Amino acid sequence: MDNKKLYVVGIGPGDRSYLTARASEALEGAEVIAGYTVYTELIKKYYPDKEYIVTPMTKERERCVLALEAADGGRITAMVCSGDAGVYGMAGLILELACDYPKVDVEIVPGVTAALSGAALLGAPIGHDFAVISLSDILTPWEKIEKRLRMAAQGDFCIVLYNPSSRRRSGYLKRACDILLEYMSGATVCGYVRSIGREGEESRVLSLSELAETEADMFTTVFIGSMSTALMNDKMVTKRI
Ligand code: SAH
Repeated sequence: MDNKKLYVVGIGPGDRSYLTARASEALEGAEVIAGYTVYTELIKKYYPDKEYIVTPMTKERERCVLALEAADGGRITAMVCSGDAGVYGMAGLILELACDYPKVDVEIVPGVTAALSGAALLGAPIGHDFAVISLSDILTPWEKIEKRLRMAAQGDFCIVLYNPSSRRRSGYLKRACDILLEYMSGATVCGYVRSIGREGEESRVLSLSELAETEADMFTTVFIGSMSTALMNDKMVTKRI
């Protein structure tokens, strides 16, 4: 059996109760845990005896290489990501860099992504076809993001927006809403969730016109309903017919 093992683990939105049993097993079995400071801090108290490789948010490639080196050196390693590691996470980069470490067996362990944990807080907004779009233009040109917003609106998808804002990108949520308002009614049922499973968790349902005037931060996930989305007992529900 190959003992050069690297798990890439999605830990869910925050609180340990969102961790899957498979993810807990992987973390328990690991000798080394690698990740971005915020996520390693969330799990350190539960696994205090592990060796930690912690790097800041911008050092993604470096963090992946350090995790692969640890695994290649024979220590069972787990790289942690919030939500799911394959959704705007590190799974792809690890698999790309792992081509240089043919002896390391990489296993991706899925996690509860913000679209799912956020949807549950708001009701059932993604009960029918939905599109997921990140508003971050660090790796994707804004023109492409804008095209995807227009296409999703024309297709009448429920739209889930990740990375709706940051300090550098304030005003992006309004820009996105203004594009959607070219195709959709201002009364469209929308919602947002902030800091799911963490201190300060908050959720709210509101109209698309109101959403356009709302400030989001980098811990917010936004839901824009389709034409089949309605408000039922303060819950956002997308009907399946
Ligand atoms: N891999 C993560 C996504 C990382 S991109 C996942 O699968 O959830 C970062 C974006 O994810 C944030 O800007 C926000 O839109 C969303 N997000 C991640 N964790 C969140 C949380 N606890 N509460 C609300 N949104 C969250």
